[in-house]
Formats: sequence, C-alpha cells, structure tokens
Amino acid sequence: MAYTYLIKHLPTNCVYYGVRTANKVDPTDDLWKQYFTSSKRIHELIEQDGADSFTVEIRKIFDDKAAAIAWEKRVLTRCKVMEDSRWINANIGGYILPTAESCAKISAFHKGVAKSDEHKLKIAEANRGKPKPPVSEETRKKLSTASAGSNNAMWGKPRTEAMKQAQREKMKGKPSHQKGKPRTEEQKQAQREKMLGRKKNPQEIIKRSEKLRSMNMKRDRLDCPHCSKNVPVNIYARYHGDRCKHKP
Ligand SMILES: [Zn+2]
Repeated sequence: MAYTYLIKHLPTNCVYYGVRTANKVDPTDDLWKQYFTSSKRIHELIEQDGADSFTVEIRKIFDDKAAAIAWEKRVLTRCKVMEDSRWINANIGGYILPTAESCAKISAFHKGVAKSDEHKLKIAEANRGKPKPPVSEETRKKLSTASAGSNNAMWGKPRTEAMKQAQREKMKGKPSHQKGKPRTEEQKQAQREKMLGRKKNPQEIIKRSEKLRSMNMKRDRLDCPHCSKNVPVNIYARYHGDRCKHKP
C-alpha cells in the first residue's frame, strides 16, 4: 500500500513531503517506525536533533505505486518546493531541478571542451524538426552565395538514378518555385538559345495531334478568295490569302 506523507522538523519549522512505495507493512506501522524517508538531509537532522524533533503525518494512501509517485510529483510541483527554503525537499521525483546558478556551473564546466561525434549526433537528433530562430536577409544572402553554383558540394557531380527518383517523389504535386514569377530577359534569352534549331521528336508530334484531336480542338477554317479552298487558319496564313499560288 503506497502512501504520501508530510513531516515537519519542529526546531526549524521546515517541512518535507515524500512518497513511500516499498513498504511491506501498513503505512502507520511503517512511517517513522521502520522508515525515516530517503532524504540525506532528514537523516542528518535526525542525527542532530533526534527523531522526536519531527511531527509526521500520512497524507494519502494509494493502491497503485505509479499513482502515488505521480501524486507526490504533482504536490511538490504545485507547492514550488524548489523555490521555498521552508521545504527540505531537494528535488522532485528524484530529478534535481536546475537553478540559474547550477546551470551556470554546468555551463562553465563544459566550456571549451570539444564535443564527441556521438554527442553532436545526439544534439542534431534532439534539434531535428524544431523551428529555427529567424535569419537576417544579409545572412541569408551570405549562406546562399556560399553554396551557389561551383561553391556547391554537389557541383558537376552526376546524380544517381536513386537520387533522381527520391527527388521526383519529394517534389511530386508541389508547385514549382518559379510558378507565377515572370522570367527575366536574361532567362528568356537563355531559353531562346536553348530551343533554337531544336527538332521535335516525331513521336511527340503524333501524340500531341492525337491529344488535340481527342479534345476536339480543331482550328478555325477560312475560305481562300483566290482558289476558293476551305483551309485551317494556320494553313491559310502560310499558303493562301495573299500568298496563294492562284493569286493573280
Ligand atoms: Zn488559295
């Protein structure tokens, strides 16, 4: 039968709240008869002033150990025992809560010591997916140029099929970063040069015309006044009208 208890050291008026889960006997036969807390500080005070210098009280009895431990933790947290010198408790649930002072001590101890690879990996793992602090425009530019073009570690290296496939999967369904952005004159010129003299794959042409046909996308037609043929507008512009060979 687990229980929580409160004891008070009368000479100093300080209190201690604890949990007991390992008792083999009834709480009233256990507390201050067989069990005198696990606190080193309490044991020192008993040594100094005797067990009679305390009042003890069983606060709550539990059927379940875990519930008792959780309850103790809740009480200690709620009472802010770490911030109040009247409490003898030095920790909550066995965990020492770091104060600003102890944090500074820990920090000073580790300062200047290189982290092991294992440690670095752990930090990376812990930080993965967490939001990062905002970065200034200037820093962004620096970071960008530092790995742009030939500065990039992957510059000129061919991607494996597996890498390409992974990239495909990753980008699938996402709009392009260029979507809706007007191209600069430079970009347009580069595209022109790239496409100049390029021949279309004949299979592509067939595929495209079939697609247009299936969509019922037929061009408007015009009558040529010179040869009186009825032809699609693109053919008209190229071979009829003012260019018709029957034009007098
Ligand atoms: Zn004609």
